[in-house]
Amino acid sequence: MKYSIVGCGASGMTTAITAVRNGVRPSDITIYEASEKCGRKILATGNGRCNLGNEILDSEMFYSSSGGRKEFLDDLIKRINMDDIKDFFRSLGVITVSKNGYLYPRSMQALTVLNALKNECDDLGINIRTKCVCTEVTRSGSGFELLINGKKEYSDVVVLSCGLGSGGFGIKGSEFTALLKGLKIKHNKTVPALCGLDVYDDLRSIKGVRSAGSVSLFVSGRFSGTEEGEIQFTEKAVSGIPVFQLSSLAGRALEKGEKCCLTIDLMNEYDKDDVKEIIGSRIDRFPEREIYYAFNGIMNNKLMSYVLKRSGISDKSPAGSLDDGRKKALFENLKELKFDVKNIQPADKAQTMSGGIDLSAIGRNMDIYGNDGLYVTGEMIDVDGKCGGYNLYLAWATGIICGRSLAK
Ligand SMILES: Cc1cc2nc3c(=O)[nH]c(=O)nc-3n(C[C@H](O)[C@H](O)[C@H](O)COP(=O)(O)OP(=O)(O)OC[C@H]3O[C@@H](n4cnc5c(N)ncnc54)[C@H](O)[C@@H]3O)c2cc1C
Repeated sequence: MKYSIVGCGASGMTTAITAVRNGVRPSDITIYEASEKCGRKILATGNGRCNLGNEILDSEMFYSSSGGRKEFLDDLIKRINMDDIKDFFRSLGVITVSKNGYLYPRSMQALTVLNALKNECDDLGINIRTKCVCTEVTRSGSGFELLINGKKEYSDVVVLSCGLGSGGFGIKGSEFTALLKGLKIKHNKTVPALCGLDVYDDLRSIKGVRSAGSVSLFVSGRFSGTEEGEIQFTEKAVSGIPVFQLSSLAGRALEKGEKCCLTIDLMNEYDKDDVKEIIGSRIDRFPEREIYYAFNGIMNNKLMSYVLKRSGISDKSPAGSLDDGRKKALFENLKELKFDVKNIQPADKAQTMSGGIDLSAIGRNMDIYGNDGLYVTGEMIDVDGKCGGYNLYLAWATGIICGRSLAK
């Protein structure tokens, strides 16, 4: 029996390790990896620290464009919870720690997670073939034919674990479609997620600024969600964790041609009356001061200048000269700074991809219906998690379930 795993990333290695630990002969497994090295994406995770899970595990932490999201995730979480993930890593020699519920290796180094997976594959004798790009999988008798670097290879069982190109690693959208073209599998268009959103406004003056606040997303005028945290600005994009968390919803909506708008509350810890009071008291206290200085110390100075400009107020005008219209504009921009979204940032700037193989095509063991012997794990599944260890959870959990199933 020959088992082929396409992709030697987080979920591919977890699948192989679990399969061998449960009885599959290591010599029967081959992992094909496109790049020179395995698991490169793991090294980039959690800013090099690898946020590998989260103690708060709930189906609501995940999105999907397929129907059946809640059922799929409730079942997955019931079978593989965070204790199982911790056990898996303990079995690899990795001690995990929780930082406010976010799970990391105690070393705080993604490298140690990658080393643990790779060493275990090597110790178990799993054959990893790097620089092997799989471009197509087709049915052949009771098994499959894989096109590896242009050459056909037969396999009885195939696991698709190639990710979907987030962070610039892995298969791109068109390659994903090409890979599956010989098989009848329902799949959905892949769109970047957990990334910044490009806006129409010129943000050069606040490039690099970070500010606490809350971000709300409106899709075609309807409120879609709100998130709090540190917001970051680049020349063209609004970014940071709160934007990342909303990006999956925005990406899908933009894909459907819907209009997306962000409103940012730059003083979210104050209610509206407090903000009006702050504006009024600054003007009363410093009527002669240039407005830029009268409002000094409220937030990042570049951001304050930007807000004043958006409110039609010159930095240099005396605070006491503000008319009611400008005061109202300033208040609105501090509490609801609006940005129309132009597009979602590209896959290489994203931490995951939404879309992929539709949940209706996937069985409880990560098997693909109507394709006996074909499985899928990790990012290729049409589920994307929020920031906070959820996407790696998905990779480990689906890998463990798939690996166990291969051994049955
Ligand atoms: C910058 C960044 C930071 C992140 N931080 C976190 C975090 O802290 N916590 C978290 O939970 N998630 C994080 N993620 C997401 C997480 O890394 C992914 O969800 C996870 O790695 C997906 O695992 P996977 O095995 O499905 O795919 P991958 O890890 O992408 O592995 C797929 C492998 O398949 C190979 N491959 C692709 N195509 C082919 C082909 N045609 N033939 C052969 N091999 C192929 C690729 O080279 C790759 O090695 C982050 C992602 C990025 C980009």
